[in-house]
Amino acid sequence: MKDWLGTDLKHIWHPYTQMKEALALPPVLIERAKGIKLYDAESNFYYDTISSWWCNVHGHNHPRIKAAVKKQLDVLGHVLFAGFTHKPAIELASKLISLTKNKFNRVFFSDNGSTSVEVALKMSFQYWQNTGRKRKAKFVSLDHGYHGDTIGTMSVSGLDLFNAVFSPLLFLSYKVPSPYCYRCPMKKERITCALDCLKPLEKLLKEKHAEICALIIEPLVMGAAGMIIYPKEYLEKAAALAKKYKIHLILDEVAVGFGRTGKMFAYEHTPGIKVDFLCLSKGITSGYLPLAVTLTTEEVFRRFYGDYEKRKTFFHGHTYTANPISCSAGLASLSIFKEEKTLAKVSKLMPFFHRELEKFRDLALVGDVRYIGFIGAIELVKNKKTKQGFGLKRRLGLEVYKRGLKENLVLRPLGDIIYLFLPLCTSKAEIEDILKRTYTIIESLS
Ligand SMILES: *Cc1c(COP(=O)(O)O)cnc(C)c1O
Repeated sequence: MKDWLGTDLKHIWHPYTQMKEALALPPVLIERAKGIKLYDAESNFYYDTISSWWCNVHGHNHPRIKAAVKKQLDVLGHVLFAGFTHKPAIELASKLISLTKNKFNRVFFSDNGSTSVEVALKMSFQYWQNTGRKRKAKFVSLDHGYHGDTIGTMSVSGLDLFNAVFSPLLFLSYKVPSPYCYRCPMKKERITCALDCLKPLEKLLKEKHAEICALIIEPLVMGAAGMIIYPKEYLEKAAALAKKYKIHLILDEVAVGFGRTGKMFAYEHTPGIKVDFLCLSKGITSGYLPLAVTLTTEEVFRRFYGDYEKRKTFFHGHTYTANPISCSAGLASLSIFKEEKTLAKVSKLMPFFHRELEKFRDLALVGDVRYIGFIGAIELVKNKKTKQGFGLKRRLGLEVYKRGLKENLVLRPLGDIIYLFLPLCTSKAEIEDILKRTYTIIESLS
């Protein structure tokens, strides 16, 4: 047999990985997967508790998605998307629009989450340029927000660990406090807070709206920051402020779209809000192939529409834009939502999942437990009273990860925040087993 891991470590540079640590803890060589289980070369299994980086929806090796992809392969693999089009993209675009109940009217395809956000940022910027409001050129985002790894998306993200080194390259954007209730930026208790953390946003918009294009926000769950789950009233009020001060609202649903919060899209928890751009990616093909979309309104679209020499065209596109095989996987995924009544099943199991998570609260090192839909997070702290964390040196999260692998779990942490981001096909028995194993690990920490 070939030395697969030796060759991997010799030639591959893995994402988000300190490769020095990969020597001591080499990547797990996965051979195959089925349902929510990944299998290595020795047929050990691992529950895919984080949906292979938040993208798998209906489980691995799903017969419907495989059949759709195989069928599409025999017809058309790829074609350029300027001057040409194809049925899978047309069908997917119209299905997505109808899923949003025509809240949006235009679909711009790309191929990953970061590009879907870049597209929204560039469209918002150019919208104001095309409108003659040339001073409107800055963005507002949350100080714990995460919107991707490209220069543009890093500029509107706040995660210092990832982005600090690149700061000289980033464009200036306004940052406002995040609604991180467990570590309230205003030092309030949730019950009495009246969402005071919105005040800095309101003040900023009042003073600077004439130079601001858009507010970008992850609705209800700030994923990479540690599955920070915040009250829907925050989103409602932030959206109302954006509307009042006539700036765009960009919702980044790259992580939470496609059922993760118990509804198809997270913004459905706040149905009345005005949204100008919706970014979708991770779950769109149920984790089979890369694809992303940026949805927008007819109102935005009209500002780009006109005679060529007027320079209103949106000159942006990626080579694999709207790849037909990816679109066919996306269509199959949407049909599974219907056939398997995925959202109804999630709604039924959610209370059980949340109740079981509540049991973690009493454990010694557990500071906070939070959840929505099939997402749950457990924040580990050194001191429950002061909420003091463990910091970068201790790597408690990494310890949990290592123990997780021994307990057949992929508990890839975000710092010292352990989270589950379950595929929507996870059964009650599987939830029970996953939580039992997770509990044993966290209980044994000291
Ligand atoms: C993952 C993620 C992105 C970036 O998506 P990629 O496909 O990794 O580029 C953007 N926004 C949010 C909220 C994400 O979770």
